[in-house]
Amino acid sequence: MSREWNEEKDPEFIARLADCLGFDKERVHHLFEKDYLARNWGKYEYLLRFDKEISHIERGTVLYEKDSSFEIIMGFPKIRRAMVLDPTIKKHFIGLEKVAVEEKMNGYNVRIATANEEIIAITRSGYICPYTTQKAKEKLNLKFFEDFPEFVLYGEIVGPDNPYVSKDIYNVESVEFYIFDIREKNSGKPLSISKKQEILEKYGFFQVRFFGEIPLETAPKEIEKIIRELGEKEYEGVVIKDPEMILSQLKYTSSQSNCSDLRHAFKFYNETGRDYMLSRIVREGFQTVEWKEKDAEFKKRCMQLGESILDPLRESIRSVKDGQRIYEEARIRVRDLKTVADFEDYLKRLGVDAVFEEPQAVGEEYLVKIRKLNKSTSDKTQAIWQGELW
Ligand code: ATP
Ligand code: MG
Repeated sequence: MSREWNEEKDPEFIARLADCLGFDKERVHHLFEKDYLARNWGKYEYLLRFDKEISHIERGTVLYEKDSSFEIIMGFPKIRRAMVLDPTIKKHFIGLEKVAVEEKMNGYNVRIATANEEIIAITRSGYICPYTTQKAKEKLNLKFFEDFPEFVLYGEIVGPDNPYVSKDIYNVESVEFYIFDIREKNSGKPLSISKKQEILEKYGFFQVRFFGEIPLETAPKEIEKIIRELGEKEYEGVVIKDPEMILSQLKYTSSQSNCSDLRHAFKFYNETGRDYMLSRIVREGFQTVEWKEKDAEFKKRCMQLGESILDPLRESIRSVKDGQRIYEEARIRVRDLKTVADFEDYLKRLGVDAVFEEPQAVGEEYLVKIRKLNKSTSDKTQAIWQGELW
């Protein structure tokens, strides 16, 4: 891809950037050369993104020139996972009296902020998604950004009309933004849980479900109960937080959500990372032991786990045998067909192999089905059916 900007030719820019990041100039040059630091494109070209975690800077961090310096929107920090609830929670949050427990919703992560006086929705990797940006403009109370230009909203986008993680479990008709964090620009510092909730309420944003503050001593048992209930609805799990948001957060998920990830992973078995598959299976092992499951429960877990692996495999292998290609179906809903064109262009830039169907009018909007093609799994399966060795 040809570069529209050539940072090397602008030593003054490099010097200012180096200064802002606290790196030396050679390092900044090197980051550009390796594309670890790169630009978005088109009208968002002014936004630089970190494609990789560098020193203390999260992957997906975005920055842009403002006044004579830079403004930074930090990436969302990776949340570490508790494999067992007890003693992990007590150990991690030692010294706290209580922990705040929130639902971990299963959609896709996005940061919404203003940069150069425009609203942008930034993906986990630091790209500006034109579809999510448009939805943010339509659905969010934008007064918030006028009142707090220094804040960034961190949220989970859920619902069926999205191209990334489409789930019908949340009683959301199209797509909705559920906010879980407010953080400051530059420092990335989060507001405390209570402050965040107060502001989100004031501006009428949807928030992730809050299970309250739970005493540290009883947290493992209480969370076990919460997880069982969430699991029954196929909900993902919880994020456990320091009410002041000083200590780092932890996550823990339901068996049903592990299985649902596995169903997806094995359908596209040749494109999914091995670690992704393995870690979800190992989680099941720890959960059954920690929850002291007896024979009947254990057998049930075995069936669910086994089916979530073998069912999608059977389906994929069969459909290729019958001459079909494997793909994932997604859909978006728009007011203006320009958003479809922008989004199609965006996926192309990212190298996603997708086919957009003709838009169908629904009320004032258009629904567009998208087929994301899984070439690698299709090709591999086909080759095996032609007698090739693994
Ligand atoms: P996974 O989503 O499968 O855990 P991941 O790599 O995205 O994988 P993390 O890096 O740990 O996991 O990030 C946690 C994810 O949980 C983020 O994508 C975030 O959007 C999502 N999330 C959902 N609900 C919450 C919540 N209440 N608080 C924090 N994060 C949440
Ligand atoms: Mg997720």
